[in-house]
Amino acid sequence: MVQKVALITGSTSGIGLGVAMRLAQGGHNIILNGFGDPQKIQWTANSIAEMYKVEVVHSNADMTKPEEIEKMVHMAQNSFGSLDVVVCNAGIQHVAPIEDFPPEQWDMILAINLSSAFHVIRHAIPMMKQKKWGRIINIASAHALVASPFKSAYVAAKHGLAGLTKTVALEVAEHGITCNAICPGYVKTPLVDNQIADTAKARGISPEAVIRDVILGSQPTKEFVQTTDIAELVAYLSGEHAAAITGAMLSIDGGWTAH
Ligand code: NAD
Repeated sequence: MVQKVALITGSTSGIGLGVAMRLAQGGHNIILNGFGDPQKIQWTANSIAEMYKVEVVHSNADMTKPEEIEKMVHMAQNSFGSLDVVVCNAGIQHVAPIEDFPPEQWDMILAINLSSAFHVIRHAIPMMKQKKWGRIINIASAHALVASPFKSAYVAAKHGLAGLTKTVALEVAEHGITCNAICPGYVKTPLVDNQIADTAKARGISPEAVIRDVILGSQPTKEFVQTTDIAELVAYLSGEHAAAITGAMLSIDGGWTAH
């Protein structure tokens, strides 16, 4: 059987790494992407390859740089001869009131959380069209559906990612390609850990109160969403049985957006 190839942006940490491991477990060759200590990344790539008997390569393409994104997508063609599954996951956060929100943080969040998906998708689609098969999965957020104060750039980018997902789904529907967005609630990753202090400052409350009242307060289950839960959904969407799911916003948020 020919092995499928999956590219996951921002997969050296958190959700992206969990997704990469799950797709490797399903037999996909993997293109990892993201920042970090090169030795640690190489160790991670080797471990995944060994554990699941697949090939794993790493691209350090910066998701703010369209020309590096293009090279990364073509790395799939050069390393493995195809690209079947794309997971647009790279993302950052900045928490501040709108009047204090640094314009350079706005630009960076829009570039990484939204525009990078546009560039990945536009370069991946021709390869997928050729094969008449493809799966595009955008890791959006509950913030693609509802807002929270002090996260103007993140909420704007994630709502934009929802719009991009639906548009691409319509454009490629007759080519055997699906495009969906997963909308997680809070997952305990470095992205969440790093925003606790700023959220406490913006709201004038303690870090403990941020976790209890803001983070878990949004989620009726009062539990963090697990990275593995998201990875399983990605695996399902990447498979044959998900052919009719396209243009969907799939919530996995402990009931947050049922409010
Ligand atoms: P994380 O901080 O653990 O991982 C982010 C990844 O993106 C890392 O691999 C990092 O190296 C990479 N990255 C950052 N800037 C980059 C750049 N310029 N170029 C290339 N790679 C870059 O974060 P996470 O929580 O795993 O978040 C992953 C995605 O899930 C994000 O899009 C985030 O918005 C989304 N999400 C997270 C949560 C949550 O609660 N953690 C909830 C909903 C959605």
